[in-house]
Amino acid sequence: MSSTINTGSKSDQSDASGKLDLRGASGGGMFDYAPAPESVKAPIADTYGLFINGEFVDPSSGDRFETLNPSNEETLSMISSASVSDVDAAVQAARDALPEWSGLPGSVRGKYLYRIARRIQERARELAVLETLDGGKPIKESRDIDIPLAAAHFFYHAGWADKLEYAFPGKTPEPVGVCGQIIPWNFPFLMAAWKIAPALACGNTIVLKPAETTSLTALRLAEICQEVGLPKGVVNIVTGAGETGSALVDHPDVDKIAFTGSTGVGKMIAKATAPTNKRLTLELGGKSANIIFEDASIDQAVEGIVEGIYFNQGHVCCAGSRVFVQESVLDTVINKLGDRLASLRVGDPMDKNTDLGAINSKEQLGTINRYLETGTSEGATRHDVNPCEVPEKGYWCKPCFFTGVQPSHAIAREEIFGPVLAVMSFRTPDEALSRANNTPYGLAAGVWTDKGSKIFDMASKLDAGVVWLNTYNKFDPASPFGGFKESGFGREGGRHGLAAYLK
Ligand code: NAD
Repeated sequence: MSSTINTGSKSDQSDASGKLDLRGASGGGMFDYAPAPESVKAPIADTYGLFINGEFVDPSSGDRFETLNPSNEETLSMISSASVSDVDAAVQAARDALPEWSGLPGSVRGKYLYRIARRIQERARELAVLETLDGGKPIKESRDIDIPLAAAHFFYHAGWADKLEYAFPGKTPEPVGVCGQIIPWNFPFLMAAWKIAPALACGNTIVLKPAETTSLTALRLAEICQEVGLPKGVVNIVTGAGETGSALVDHPDVDKIAFTGSTGVGKMIAKATAPTNKRLTLELGGKSANIIFEDASIDQAVEGIVEGIYFNQGHVCCAGSRVFVQESVLDTVINKLGDRLASLRVGDPMDKNTDLGAINSKEQLGTINRYLETGTSEGATRHDVNPCEVPEKGYWCKPCFFTGVQPSHAIAREEIFGPVLAVMSFRTPDEALSRANNTPYGLAAGVWTDKGSKIFDMASKLDAGVVWLNTYNKFDPASPFGGFKESGFGREGGRHGLAAYLK
């Protein structure tokens, strides 16, 4: 254990030359905790099949691919690759199950959703361990955020299942039909819950495709569907890469595609579905702004910046990856941010003290590293103040931030999807607004100020699907989430999210 303790904030760390000292309050040191490894084990099979019509089946091609632990690059299991004919079988199972499932009274569908929610709670720690092993996120996040929120999502939609007429008065809500759902790797289990729970509550049947690097918890959800006696074919899970997703998108007997992922793939799906009758909702990327006014509580705002960009290693679609700070408090914010960054623990995701775990894949690490190089080559200044030593094996990126960033720099315009922050300044609320809105994305934003009037004014003018005020990255199943512009369309959560699964 080192003996130095980071005592927290300092109002000004400029030296005589005016240069900022960003080594942290302890001069780069930090206090250490003894390791606190998670002790729960999650059994993992050597191979997993596809979940079609209530059973795990081998892929027709026999093709499998490995899923890795990104913190040590060890193979966890072999996952089935679903071919066009496997996707066809899954869609057929969902089609066959539709009349019975959609014909059940809403209260009965609700009972199944409650059962799933309770079973998630019972298996919560095991699910959290699996999520962390497969995805690299810290166990404290999987345990305290991803899995409880997923259970909450099923509880919430269980409550709606027999109240759809009240949700949409004067209408006769009917399910859309067979839904193809495609999800990314950053919140694998939570995204599965966001997709499956409202679709089931509304009487639809499902073919879900998880991301290729993080299939394990979705396959556990398939087991849970078996355990609660969900009728066969109501939920089908096909694993595989982009080709499997594409087969689902192109399948003529799918009534709706719900996609969460990158804007690039979202655009391809929009083109593929445009000439069809398929309904489409898209939850895509972002480059969200976190705006700090001089009258904000600066310590809280710095916590909000940290929560906004370093949570889940920055693998968050709504990450506050552009921070705009009012000029008069810029140096203070940068210094405090440097202190805070120096105290974050990067390392073994299975340690309960870890703040930032592993980057999800080698490919994603490569993308982040390219942006780090571009940031420097375009003239911004990178601040690497975190003193942690990361393991040799695995995919690691320590949290950092850039200052001296111009709006034209790639790191200020493009989604990096890693623990990399662009800090910029502004003088007036109008300037903050125009700079925050100057992006093709429109997913989320944060505003930090003491003034209620400024809060409401900014919130009404920011082009973002979600605006957090004096907080960041807060999620609730009752609160609709989604973007506009190139961040997609459609909402998930709340009454708005239900509408996407009803005619
Ligand atoms: P991705 O677009 O590469 O992949 C997402 C999913 O689409 C995966 O399951 C993938 O296998 C599948 N896919 C890939 N090519 C496909 C194709 N041609 N047809 C059909 N499916 C295909 O995205 P990713 O790298 O897994 O996830 C990161 C992205 O997701 C980021 O851009 C992030 O902002 C976004 N995201 C958005 C939200 C939101 O709610 N708006 C939430 C989480 C993540």
